[in-house]
Amino acid sequence: MAGEEKPVGIAVLGLGNVGSEVVRIIEESAEDLAARIGAPLVLRGVGVRRVADDRGVPVELLTEDIEGLVAREDVDIVVEVMGPVEPARKAILTALERGKSVITANKALMAQSTGELAQAAEKARVDLYFEAAVAGAIPVIRPLTQSLAGDTVVRVAGIVNGTTNYILSAMNETGASYDSALADASALGYAEADPTADVEGYDAAAKAAILASIAFHTRVTADDVYREGITKVTAEDFESAKALGCTIKLLAICERLTTGKGKQKVSARVYPALVPLDHPLASVSGAFNAVVVEAEAAGRLMFYGQGAGGAPTASAVMGDLVMAARNRVQGGRGPRESKYAKLPIASIGVIPTRYYVSLYVKDRPGVLSSVAAEFAKREVSIAEVRQEGIADDGGQRVGARIAVLTHQATDEALSETISALEELDAVSQVASVLRMEGAGE
Ligand code: NAP
Repeated sequence: MAGEEKPVGIAVLGLGNVGSEVVRIIEESAEDLAARIGAPLVLRGVGVRRVADDRGVPVELLTEDIEGLVAREDVDIVVEVMGPVEPARKAILTALERGKSVITANKALMAQSTGELAQAAEKARVDLYFEAAVAGAIPVIRPLTQSLAGDTVVRVAGIVNGTTNYILSAMNETGASYDSALADASALGYAEADPTADVEGYDAAAKAAILASIAFHTRVTADDVYREGITKVTAEDFESAKALGCTIKLLAICERLTTGKGKQKVSARVYPALVPLDHPLASVSGAFNAVVVEAEAAGRLMFYGQGAGGAPTASAVMGDLVMAARNRVQGGRGPRESKYAKLPIASIGVIPTRYYVSLYVKDRPGVLSSVAAEFAKREVSIAEVRQEGIADDGGQRVGARIAVLTHQATDEALSETISALEELDAVSQVASVLRMEGAGE
């Protein structure tokens, strides 16, 4: 009988958006959880910065002594939902070294210190789970590490940051500028007071590092991920995207590439990109997340849902907690870190994508051919050229805004082309350069 088994002692670090939901589920679903695990979960303590009797948890369970809590003899599993990297890293290491299994939702930490933490878990032969670190409630770590363990993953691409997706969706729907969409997102609580980690793509890059590591059995850190944020995306870019039958999304892309010499490499990158409206990621709007996984035998799989928020994130944490607790009761461990492939990281310069380039050009004959010549010199093949508008100066036409859509070209070739265009007399300004994903070659 479940109730007769030795209880599994739990320490929760953090009682914020996620921690308070984890504690609630542990308390409210105690009977069901005990039946699923084969033993009851018992909350031994909750680590916080501020101990007080108005926090919805018996005050005797609260403590500011994080290190003391995780080291307690009667704690079997530590749930870390406090962030940031420190003191979480130190507390998790203490817990692992003392033989506790650890569940964490801390993407910044996992993208930076997976190696160190995985080694400590390995040494102590305990579980280290982090489903909630990528895309909140959406199961994506477990499908990659377990369901697809016998397949070969070739690509993982997704929308993994709700704040930026909310901002870009608002710009798409209302024609708002970036600044005004960000202000609305902040007022509605979708963006933090300091939105840098989200809008500059750091959060998505941490998640891309975690996904690439797992998908390609290679240790990838956030520093290996090429990153561009959304702060330069304009209302005009959205107008152009619409004219091309696209929208703009901040994508995290992890790919296994084969170089000309037949060598395999890993690319992990985050940037805003044009996405055709008929692509499955185009319709993921608001604060939702989605991840598309492509594997050799399975084909294309899509995971969609709530990528953040207290309860959705707690759902992923609880899934990990039940797994780790079952392992404690029944014996056994979850999968260890798999890094046997040790693939090198491909630099962004060699990555082929399609590009959309918007330019202001002067109103004179031969302009288009001189622009086209700069693309041709670097073997960047043009798929389409469109006039997007007229540039005027006090009512007098002085030039035009044109958009060039390329076939696939490397980042290196495109960057050289842009530098040359900026020097060209016929070009007044390169207004925008965006990649296009999911539209063939
Ligand atoms: P939060 O609301 O800010 O809560 C943080 C909690 O941790 C608070 O209870 C705080 O204590 C406690 N804490 C912070 N620093 C501490 C320290 N030095 N010592 C003791 N306690 C400390 O954060 P959250 O939104 O729940 O997020 C928690 C973690 O989950 C983060 O790693 C985050 O990246 C990750 N995550 C969050 C979401 C989400 O949607 N919120 C989604 C995925 C992953 P006090 O209450 O006393 O201040």
